Amino acid sequence: MKIKRKGILFVISAPSGAGKTTLCREAMKRLDNLEFSISYTTRPPRPGEEEGRDYHFVDEETFLKMVERGDLAEWARVYNHLYGTPKAPLIKAIEEGRDILLDIDIQGASQIKAVFPDDAVPIFVFPPSMDVLKERLSTRGTDPPQVIRERWAKAEEEMAMYPLFRYFVVNDELEEAVEDLTAIIKAERHRVNRLRETQW
Ligand code: ADP
Ligand code: 5GP
Repeated sequence: MKIKRKGILFVISAPSGAGKTTLCREAMKRLDNLEFSISYTTRPPRPGEEEGRDYHFVDEETFLKMVERGDLAEWARVYNHLYGTPKAPLIKAIEEGRDILLDIDIQGASQIKAVFPDDAVPIFVFPPSMDVLKERLSTRGTDPPQVIRERWAKAEEEMAMYPLFRYFVVNDELEEAVEDLTAIIKAERHRVNRLRETQW
């Protein structure tokens, strides 16, 4: 049987340190037809991050020009830096039946839901506890103590936003969380309302 369907935007949000990046990487290793949306940011690259793979790193002037031109599907100021998702690749992916993972903050997830109500699937990732979240932020070793404190302090407020999402995953044991995430993705791929053409 031949099937053509629309692409899906899987929007993954969580408090910083809950494990979005890790879960997205694992899901992409295990599933075909799943690409990562590369955001634009004014944040400087962390050691090991690569232009065009992790983010497009730009200055604030360039970013604000993109906002003016309407190039971004959503954007937000997160911890003093600007982050935004380019719109054209999302529209093209939906059209071509390719699925996209978006690792973005909660404000951004709400905007994507509003812009693509039929094509976005918002998924919230919970850490197992606030203590584990703090530990993960520290052991990741990418942020100074002040930044870790800021991120952790904001987490409680962010967790309360989960009702805006369609699904949740608890990232306690990694293998189990990845299985849950991939199960959600597979189920959404089988929704009849996304079928475009069928031939049998
Ligand atoms: P986020 O992208 O949500 O900020 P990361 O994916 O960077 O979070 O994860 C934060 C830290 O926690 C990283 O050091 C990562 O290796 C670790 N981590 C992620 N998921 C798990 C898990 N299930 N068990 C233990 N450590 C984890
Ligand atoms: P980090 O600086 O740790 O890479 O990301 C900080 C936060 O910004 C994370 O919550 C991440 O999901 C979010 N983020 C990354 N890209 C985007 C984006 O394009 N838009 C929005 N709204 N948030 C983003």
